[in-house]
Amino acid sequence: MTTKTDLLYEGKAKSVYETDNDDLVIVEFRDDMTAGDGARKETMTGKGYYNSIITSKIFEVLEAHGIKTQFVELTKPGTLVVKKLDMIPLEVIVRNIATGSLVRTFPFEDKTPLDPPIIQTDYKSDEFHDPAINDSISIALGLVTQDDLDFIRKTTMKINDIMRDMFLDAGITLVDFKIEFGKDKEGNIILGDEISPDSCRLWDVETQDMLDKELFRKGQDDKVIDAYEEVFNRLLNDDDKAKWNL
Ligand code: 5GP
Repeated sequence: MTTKTDLLYEGKAKSVYETDNDDLVIVEFRDDMTAGDGARKETMTGKGYYNSIITSKIFEVLEAHGIKTQFVELTKPGTLVVKKLDMIPLEVIVRNIATGSLVRTFPFEDKTPLDPPIIQTDYKSDEFHDPAINDSISIALGLVTQDDLDFIRKTTMKINDIMRDMFLDAGITLVDFKIEFGKDKEGNIILGDEISPDSCRLWDVETQDMLDKELFRKGQDDKVIDAYEEVFNRLLNDDDKAKWNL
């Protein structure tokens, strides 16, 4: 068993702890939900439960398709053991359908399908408010090399293909999402952080109803947990639930 020790880092929705194993950290998913660069903060009871399990499921499926992820084990709902990574402060955003900041920033019509998908990167920084960043700036800042970026782009496209199919099987359109990568001790680039309704836009295929954090951003707080529960119920099968005692 991996035992947590000191608090290493507290983010807006997750807390990361050192453990008795130097190569592993424990991530606790909290029920805190923030929007508008942290301007609005609420407690959404159950969010940590759903997001930790949805992340575990997605990371397991990605691993099964040959994508290296940080995931080691869901010890209990809300708590993951993951490989310790040196996180790269880039938010890699993939868009299959134009919406959100893309249509606010560029002359795309809302809900236009994007084929091929668009990949963008933001610099992950509370101090600088996550500005858009390009390859030259990322390299000049020493965050990554060109080879790193090539690998990240190729891997991200694969992740998008796998996740789109996975969600489609669950009657959900994967509109867009954000992922983050880190490096392990050997310098390998590994998918880290979380993939959940906090970091994806998910629409019901039939009704186009939102099933993600956008509900919170739009002030429909009463619908948030039901939507997350819906994603959980559609993605997890009976074997997953039995394996994790859900
Ligand atoms: P947009 O740029 O349209 O606001 O977001 C695009 C996609 O990336 C959405 O699925 C959104 O949830 C995700 N995303 C962008 N920035 C962040 C972030 O700082 N945190 C999280 N959790 N997701 C983000």
